[in-house]
Amino acid sequence: VFQLSMPLNFLGSVYRELRQSLLDMETLFNLQKVNLAIKDPPNPKPLQLKGGEIKFENVTFGYRPDRPILKNLTLTIPAGKKVAIVGPSGCGKSTILRLLFRFYDVQEGRILIDGQDIRDVSMESLRRAIGVVPQDTPLFNDTIEHNIHYGDMSASPEKVRAAAKRARIHDIIETLPDGYNTMVGERGMMISGGEKQRLAVSRLILKDPPLLFFDEATSALDTYTEQTLLANISSILKEKSRTSVFVAHRLRTIYDSDLIIVLREGNVAEQGTHDKLIDRGGVYSELWSAQETLFVDDAAKGSGSGDK
Ligand code: ATP
Repeated sequence: VFQLSMPLNFLGSVYRELRQSLLDMETLFNLQKVNLAIKDPPNPKPLQLKGGEIKFENVTFGYRPDRPILKNLTLTIPAGKKVAIVGPSGCGKSTILRLLFRFYDVQEGRILIDGQDIRDVSMESLRRAIGVVPQDTPLFNDTIEHNIHYGDMSASPEKVRAAAKRARIHDIIETLPDGYNTMVGERGMMISGGEKQRLAVSRLILKDPPLLFFDEATSALDTYTEQTLLANISSILKEKSRTSVFVAHRLRTIYDSDLIIVLREGNVAEQGTHDKLIDRGGVYSELWSAQETLFVDDAAKGSGSGDK
């Protein structure tokens, strides 16, 4: 029995690993875009995680060398902190996340995680340490249960449900005729953008990686659901002292971050906490005032039509 179960267990774990890495690849990147030039170094060491500090040192990068997107960028994402990256469209926010995942390599400078250049560690260990909720998560043609389960194939059904609860999607799943067995994806039931985002968050909560990146991960949710989901995510991050990076347009979703980094033209325009940046009266404070005006206008419109 022992002899038989060994290889089966082994195969099971290889299968799980394979599915896991396929999931990560598919979830994060459009497969055609995978850059085959990025390879493991000879004799790669696994990434040794301590607190999860991320550093960009003098990083220059462009998808085309003649058009740099990040220009001599230096920044630190402190271990165990919640950090937001904001800035105008196209300034390179998502690019920072793609570089961290080593989807591309920098042209100059280096990226360090807990002091290790990410080009020196095995890509498998790097990617295993990172969980991302991207702008648009593709779902698998499978049940809701499985779509969440991909986050950790060894998790119990109870854990899957607990993750869904924290991602504020459990109650909705329970109202479906087939509950967790409902088929989703292209050939299954259509679900809304906001529900998809919450499934992606459930998956990430289940995966429970040391480094968590959110790329406009809650943009399809209504304000109330978004705020409650973000509060849940924040409490998990705090509880576990995880390093997290939120890329965001709407400052209301990130103003409580430990650090806000404002990018402009491939570099850091300013950084600090919300209060510090408001006092400074720079780009962030202008953006905040502009968005608040819009928010108040929208809220007024919303309640006006709701009364009638
Ligand atoms: P947004 O807020 O609109 O999502 P962003 O700040 O996240 O923008 P990035 O997605 O990092 O911006 O893109 C930065 C720049 O790089 C943009 O000008 C974009 O057009 C360009 N870019 C992004 N991906 C690629 C790619 N695969 N090939 C070539 N150029 C790209």
